[in-house]
Amino acid sequence: MNDTTALTEDKWRSQWWYQPWVRAAIGLATIAFVLGYHAYESGFEPFTFIVLSVCLIVPLEKFIPRHELRTFRPQLLADFFHHFVSGFIGFIPLIFLFPILNEFQSQELASLIQSQPTWLQILEALFISEFLIYWGHRFSHEVPLLWRFHAVHHSSPNLDWLAGERRHPMDQVYMSFFVGIPMVLSGFSLVDLLIVGAIQNIWDMTIHANLGWRLKFLDGIWVTSEFHHWHHSMDKDARDKNYSGALPVFDWLFKTYYLPSDKEPGPYGIDTHMPETYVGQLIQPFLKIKPEETSTESS
Ligand SMILES: [Zn+2]
Ligand SMILES: [Zn+2]
Repeated sequence: MNDTTALTEDKWRSQWWYQPWVRAAIGLATIAFVLGYHAYESGFEPFTFIVLSVCLIVPLEKFIPRHELRTFRPQLLADFFHHFVSGFIGFIPLIFLFPILNEFQSQELASLIQSQPTWLQILEALFISEFLIYWGHRFSHEVPLLWRFHAVHHSSPNLDWLAGERRHPMDQVYMSFFVGIPMVLSGFSLVDLLIVGAIQNIWDMTIHANLGWRLKFLDGIWVTSEFHHWHHSMDKDARDKNYSGALPVFDWLFKTYYLPSDKEPGPYGIDTHMPETYVGQLIQPFLKIKPEETSTESS
């Protein structure tokens, strides 16, 4: 029997598929497949964003533009890089933190929350995460160190379907922690958090887009593109206003609500220097700001 086994072994050892280079190639292909699969899985959202935007938002921008703007406008490529890099980076720390945070979750609170109807859980998760987004965002404007990184997001001179994706990885990680950690600790199920995150992200695609619709029936109830465009506006009256991501009630409560009916938002940008390239924008927050760079001559 042993002889037969040895014979069989010898036989397959001599096959072409047992050659070291073939085994190495199969091993490498497996590793590439596993890594690729994980990259695809965690990157599902960034890819969906591009497909949905190109199919829905870009045509809408052509039909109802707010400002005249070419689809292939300057710095589009830099924003592509931001989208993919910050999209991945924002999630990675939470993936590692999730099992650790789960340990600290109060089981009583979690079962109390999760015993409610799903629609109520989603509404509550939306409300609490919006409160956190409001304050996380407001701190990133009011704390100078955080502003250095958040300024990258505000440096877009043109707002469109991709401009909102311009986020420094540090800004992205900060917001993921600020919002994600309390939300996971609060006891909401992962499904609730993913549903709320998807609603917020899908809507986020439209609030930066170059859409001229006013959607007045949503004023004060839900954030519109006009509302968020004011947040990016260089107009002095609009400075440090409209921090909310989806529910403007927090701007109303904390006295930062700004939505005038007699004027249009714009121009957009910041009054300090920001390089136009992706790498330049990554480095800029770490550099010392020279006094001459704080001039307000931007268009
Ligand atoms: Zn901001
Ligand atoms: Zn924005």
